Order: sequence, then C-alpha cells, then structure tokens
Amino acid sequence: MYPSLSLYINGRFLSAEGREVQTIRDPATQEALGELPWATGEDLDAALLAADHAFQTWRCSSPMERSAVLRRVGELARERANDIARAITQDNGKPLAEAVAEVLNSAEHAEWAAEECRRIYGRVVPPRNPLVRQWVVREPVGVCAAFSPWNFPMGQAMKKVVAAIGAGCTVVLKGPEESPSAVDALARLFHDAGLPPGVLNVVWGVPSTISKHLIESPIVRKVSFTGSVPVGKHLAAMAGAHMKRVSMELGGHSPVLVFDDADVEQAATLLARFKVRNAGQVCVSPSRFYVQSRVYDRFVSAFTEVINSVTMGHGLQPESQMGPLVHARRLEAVQSLVEDARRQGGEVLSGGGRLPGAGHFFAPTVITGLPDTARVMNEEPFGPLAPITRFTDLEEVLRRANSVPFGLASYVFTHSIQTSTRVANGLEAGMVNINHFGMAHPELPFGGIKDSGIGSEGGTELFDGYLATKMITQI
Ligand code: NAD
Repeated sequence: MYPSLSLYINGRFLSAEGREVQTIRDPATQEALGELPWATGEDLDAALLAADHAFQTWRCSSPMERSAVLRRVGELARERANDIARAITQDNGKPLAEAVAEVLNSAEHAEWAAEECRRIYGRVVPPRNPLVRQWVVREPVGVCAAFSPWNFPMGQAMKKVVAAIGAGCTVVLKGPEESPSAVDALARLFHDAGLPPGVLNVVWGVPSTISKHLIESPIVRKVSFTGSVPVGKHLAAMAGAHMKRVSMELGGHSPVLVFDDADVEQAATLLARFKVRNAGQVCVSPSRFYVQSRVYDRFVSAFTEVINSVTMGHGLQPESQMGPLVHARRLEAVQSLVEDARRQGGEVLSGGGRLPGAGHFFAPTVITGLPDTARVMNEEPFGPLAPITRFTDLEEVLRRANSVPFGLASYVFTHSIQTSTRVANGLEAGMVNINHFGMAHPELPFGGIKDSGIGSEGGTELFDGYLATKMITQI
C-alpha cells in the first residue's frame, strides 16, 4: 500500500481538502499511486509563521532536548525502515534493498546529529585587560527554507533537517514532488518523536513558486538546497539579493582515474556496480572514466561484462539490480547525451537507449572512443552512462579531470603511494576516494567545491551552515 500524502504545518497533517493535487506515478509502470496536496499561498504563510513562532522557543531549547528528539527519530526510522523503503521504491523506482539502506543511513544521520548537537561549543578568548571577559558563542541562524531532491528522497531531506533542528533552527521544507513519500514519512518520524509544533513544516507545490515565496519572505534567514547546478545558482542568487545564508549541495561529474598499477578487474567490478546504483542518478556517481593506456582494454572488458549482467526491473522484484529513471525528462536528457557521443565518434559497447514499455527504463550504457569534447564528458549525465577514455600520464589526466566546472566526488585506483598523494593533492574535488568508496557516512563531511556547491553536510561540520557566530565582551 502506498501511503496517503499530506502537508505538515504547525504540527498538523493536512490533506487535499479542496487544494490542488498532483498525481504521483510509479516510474516503472506509470501506474497512479496517490495524490499529493499542493500548498496554497496561505499554507506557505502559515508554515512560515509557525516556523517563526516555534523558533522563539526552539532556539532556547537545551541540546539534551534536541538530542532526545533526534535519537528517537533514528529509532523510529529503523523500526519503520521496511515500510518507508517500500514506498520509496514505488515512487522513485530504486531497488528495495537500496531504499532500505537509504532509510538506515538516514537513521544514522539523525543519531549522529543527536550526538554532535550536545557539542556545539563556543570559546573563551584571552583578553588584553585582565578585567575583561570575552567569549564567542554560536547561535542558530533562524528559520530555514530547505529544498530536497528526489534521488535520495529520505537521505537528502534528513541531512538538512537534522542539521537545522539540531542547531536550534526551525524549518520549512519543500520535498521532491517527483518522489514525495519519504519526506511525508520523515515528517511523521519527527511528529511521533515529540518535536514541538512548527519546528518542522513540510510543503509541496510548484517548485519555483514555493522557493520564491519562501526565500523572499523576511522570516527566512537561511536557504538550503540539494539539486542541479542551474537551480542552485538561481536560488543562491535570490538568497543573495536578500543577504541570506546558503548551503548548496549541487551536481557533480565525478572523474575516475585508473592507473596502470591498479587492481584493474577489481576496480572495474566495483565501479560498474556503483555506476548502476539508483540508475546512475547519484550526484557522486562515477561519470567520467580515464583509464591508463596499458590497462585500458582489460578495464573496458571487465567493466562491460559486469554492466551486461545487470538485471533491470521493478524495484520491488527481488532480482532487480537497477530500476527506472525517475521521470521522462531524465530519459530524454540521457538519450541526447548518447546521441551526441555517437556523433562525435563514440562507440556504444552496451545499452544506448530506453527499453520498450511504459516504464522509464534506460539500459546501462558503456561508451568508448569518444573525445573530451563530447557533451557527456562535460555535462553531468545523472543516469546509467559510463564514458570511458584513455590517458597516458599523471599530469595529463589531472588536467583533464579538473577541466569541468564541477568539483564534488572523485575516484582514484592505484597502488602507488606517490601517485595517490599527488592526485589527492591535485584533484579539484570536495571528496577523493582512493581504491574504495567511503562517502556518505554521517561522521564524514559531504560536499563540493567550484560549481558543486557551498558547505558540507555530515561530519563535525554539519551544523556550521546553521549557526551564526556572536562575540560577547564584558568588563
Ligand atoms: P531539475 O533541475 O529540473 O530539478 C532538480 C530538483 O530541483 C527537482 O527536485 C526540482 O523539483 C527542484 N527545482 C527545480 N526548480 C526549482 C526552483 N525554482 N526552486 C526550487 N526547487 C526547484 O533537474 P532534474 O532533471 O529533476 O534532476 C537532474 C539534475 O538534478 C541533475 O543534473 C543533478 O545535477 C541534479 N540533482 C542533484 C542532486 C544532488 O544530490 N546534488 C540530487 C538530485 C538532482
């Protein structure tokens, strides 16, 4: 059963009740799953007022109180993981096992925030005059407008909400209309964990209308967005016009550097499995492959073999390893990258197009022999595409890896300490993974540089974007 969906404003779940609704569909079948109520202008104002009112109390709450709510959210998420995950698979398409892992990872983020929020320390600064006391405190910035995406509909929303709430802020969250069940479930987790009314509010509707309404409201002091670079730049510009802080987790185009001395077959297997995760709709998906000449053929052959063995199907079928793309826009976007690569001389070794039928299935695709000018080498594919190219030496591959405006994740495979050190120092990326994938744990900061964003989620940095610094001096 797919859950019924609601707005969540001032501690109350609100159904359509005469509001406009959006039909939610299963991307694997196009079957209608349910209806999502859209917030009216009055609903948005009610959510803003509730968040503003709740902030006056929540900002003074003890860290122990905030910690207890967040810990309980983690427990409830674990208890409800199977049901939440099933609905995610229905409206997002990812295989059930991936959806369960996402919910459990979200629980860990809530638990990490519960621990870290008790350690939001200030500092005492030695004075010039011994009669002076001067210290620095960190205070919650205020009401946050948060916008979370559809690719990890529970995980991305949870990271924003636990950081804001743990810091003592209140939130108006717009979840992803494409895949809304997870954010609806998230609101219920916080509600049932005893979060006071108004601290978290959830709204739905036309993204551009809601973001304008919220960001331009004088009540909002902070904007947090995860999504594409163009939308992120648009929202950051709007926030800048009103001098509001931003956290931006935007797209990437992760380079993979496989050196001659790597364990080539192991790297190819790991990378191919990672490539099809969530059908490649992952901001840190490996998406530009540079393989050193001597091992290029071996890598391509091992990688393609794994890709050819991937079973596609509805995410609720236990044998499915890859589900559909989330919406028709992505199918078109991915297909046009493949066509461009073909025109530029690329050879499609596997996949290359959508599957027949109503679902948004796109075959995992391996393309070789394409030049660096191909669009897929410069634009984030956000789909199951793997363009594989050759390189000769380290300086050349670093220059090519750093040639795009993105700087999110990167992957290096080598057994040489010298090579890995030089590459880790030289890569323009917020995250460097050497010989394995180790991101997205709550204890590690996650974020990008260049066009990939501003700020980190997770790690001991998780509250930084939600706190203002205040100096107090006294004699
Ligand atoms: P898109 O740019 O159309 O939308 C991305 C998300 O932003 C959607 O959830 C959408 O509802 C929201 N959005 C769009 N306009 C908005 C506005 N004016 N105000 C507020 N929210 C708005 O792209 P898409 O085809 O849905 O997704 C693919 C792209 O999104 C990819 O290129 C990828 O970079 C990006 N993306 C990144 C992440 C990430 O984790 N960084 C997650 C999801 C999507």
